[in-house]
Amino acid sequence: MRLASVRLNGELRIGMVDVGDDSVFVSSSLVATVDDVVRGLIGLDQVFSVGERIALEDADLAAPVSRFNRDLLCTGWNYLDHFYETEGKRSDGKPPEHPNFFTRGPDSVIGPRDDIAWDPELSQRYDYEAELALVIGLDGRSIPEDQASKHVFGVMVANDVSLRDLQFRHGGQWLKGKSIDRTCPLGPWITTLDEIDPSDLEITCRVNGELLQSASTAQLAFSVPRLLAELSQGMTLRAGDVILTGTPSGIGNARDPQIRLGEGDLVETGIAGLGSLVNRVVRSSLL
Ligand code: MG
Repeated sequence: MRLASVRLNGELRIGMVDVGDDSVFVSSSLVATVDDVVRGLIGLDQVFSVGERIALEDADLAAPVSRFNRDLLCTGWNYLDHFYETEGKRSDGKPPEHPNFFTRGPDSVIGPRDDIAWDPELSQRYDYEAELALVIGLDGRSIPEDQASKHVFGVMVANDVSLRDLQFRHGGQWLKGKSIDRTCPLGPWITTLDEIDPSDLEITCRVNGELLQSASTAQLAFSVPRLLAELSQGMTLRAGDVILTGTPSGIGNARDPQIRLGEGDLVETGIAGLGSLVNRVVRSSLL
């Protein structure tokens, strides 16, 4: 199934997406959100008894999940071509033997068609990063690789928008440059693993129609099961956690000349079979 969060009459509803006819069945229920479904707190039969079908293009989609347990959990340099394109920006040029993890703040999350907040007073170096995102559906600690898929509720698309000057200004870490409000589109909906195998899907990012990132999730240096096994080692993952799995090459910061997102740019981030995020970069005061 494909579960969306739909804003309707000022409230957040659960939507069941039908990509065959580009529609979404929006539940009338207000007792639960997609977050509750992900956590197994409510059954879909309790949610979808009454509702209305609307065209996907008319649906006001929010980020599929919004009740975060904590920061989004993120992976760095998980496509080797991206690792090598950022060579010289790290002290050690060897590919990592273990995944590189960091987090980004939940207030950075926006819906799949929402505007990316762009404040040139805050940063001059907004960059894009197309990524496969995982939604955890079952708590677990020290999860073996062969059990990993049981803990994934579904997958979706993310754009791990990064403010490179803030990233490098504060100790060369990632938290600050990736936690700015309204800079991380998620969605457009969650696709469960019975619908799709996420291990070899085309992933792309276009800015104003120009293809700037193009890869396959098969190029992940550390697979989804390996990421879950290493991240959960001694550390409980909770239903509702979101994990970003890293971006392929082609980011704006590694290009010559560099590409920086600016006012009015249209950013399209897609993964085959999972849908696309379409976000306009819009001037906003964040100070
Ligand atoms: Mg990233």
